[in-house]
Amino acid sequence: MTSFEEARRTILEKVAPAGVERVLLLEAAGRVIAADFAAPWDMPRWDNSAMDGFAVRSADCAPSVFLKVTDYIPAGVSSEDAVAPGCAARIMTGAPIPAGADAVVPLEETEQQEATVTLLQQVRKGDHIRFAGEDVADGEPALAKGTLLGPPQISLLATFNAAMVPVYRKLRVAILSTGDELVELGTEPKQSEIINSNALALAAAVKLCGAEPTILGIARDNRESHLSLMSEGLKADVLITSAGVSAGDRDLVRETLAELGVQEEFWKVGVKPGGPTAFGMKGSTPIFSLPGNPVSTMITFEEFVRPALLKMMGHAKMLRRTVRGRLAEAVRKKPGKLNFLRVRATVDERGYLVSTSGDQNTGILKTMLACNALALLPADRTEFAAGEEVDLHLLDPTLEMEA
Ligand code: AMP
Ligand code: MG
Repeated sequence: MTSFEEARRTILEKVAPAGVERVLLLEAAGRVIAADFAAPWDMPRWDNSAMDGFAVRSADCAPSVFLKVTDYIPAGVSSEDAVAPGCAARIMTGAPIPAGADAVVPLEETEQQEATVTLLQQVRKGDHIRFAGEDVADGEPALAKGTLLGPPQISLLATFNAAMVPVYRKLRVAILSTGDELVELGTEPKQSEIINSNALALAAAVKLCGAEPTILGIARDNRESHLSLMSEGLKADVLITSAGVSAGDRDLVRETLAELGVQEEFWKVGVKPGGPTAFGMKGSTPIFSLPGNPVSTMITFEEFVRPALLKMMGHAKMLRRTVRGRLAEAVRKKPGKLNFLRVRATVDERGYLVSTSGDQNTGILKTMLACNALALLPADRTEFAAGEEVDLHLLDPTLEMEA
């Protein structure tokens, strides 16, 4: 059976970034930049004042010296006149430092008279000046290809007048549910029918990765229905199916995909939940066949599909950070499979402390709602003592920030 690590490695080897498009800067928020960005000029562009005050020649200055105020330079104005010896120019924050001046004295360190100003404190050369290029120098690599564009990155690009930016294109992800027991959201289920909740859970997960989900509907447990909806799904960038991938005689997903020319890369992974997961490729389109149990569907999406989508959308960082956490209680499991334990992690002075979020049966959705991390219990082990450290995949981004 394919191990968790092999399965993940195979997936990340097979999938590749989907393509690049140029978009308006505001459209680029939440996307990944597809080329390195080097500063086209110095930032700031010119030496400028960091304070409202007076631009002075530091050699003229000492406490209680008074200077003649000969110029007035508001923000947005560049003065033609040099500051002469014994003189000062009134200057506002952000305005270019005039020729001759080499320091700024903040207003609050002066006393002003009609046309003169008296200095109250010592002044050193360079005081309160923001120098050209001190933030980002001309030509400096400012953003690396693969960087997610959030407000600071958008601010930087806007500063450099980048109105259009190259980003990795959004992925279209088709979602197909399978099973005769399913009915669509909004319809009244009869006895023995259940709502197709996986489609919604997967679509939500796809959206949160920054991709565009399309819900294809429900393939019924017969060959024709599977064939028509799956061939539709293969037109997307990625196809995700749920259920029908175990060994039941109505589990038609694998054989239908094979009939449609999908190359199966693996089927069955040594993990619990999520054992009956299959992965294949048709050309550059990956196909993830996830188990049907809602908990298994979400965990396998998280561990196998999410990293693939992020790689296809150009992210340099595809995997959640793995941290170590102490088990609050002893845990046992069967040997042979890596277990994803749904846990609640809290942070104390010694680091992460984790308790199980409740019944670990895959039929229990509530435990998924109550968890903020998955603890990874290695395949070969069976007994874990209270206080023992295990690997954690943090699902709650705010927890990551507390670390
Ligand atoms: P299967 O893999 O087809 O044996 O399905 C496993 C379990 O997942 C069954 O209890 C199904 O009813 C349930 N299930 C399958 N598909 C969905 C779905 N789209 N939404 C919610 N539950 C599902
Ligand atoms: Mg089924």
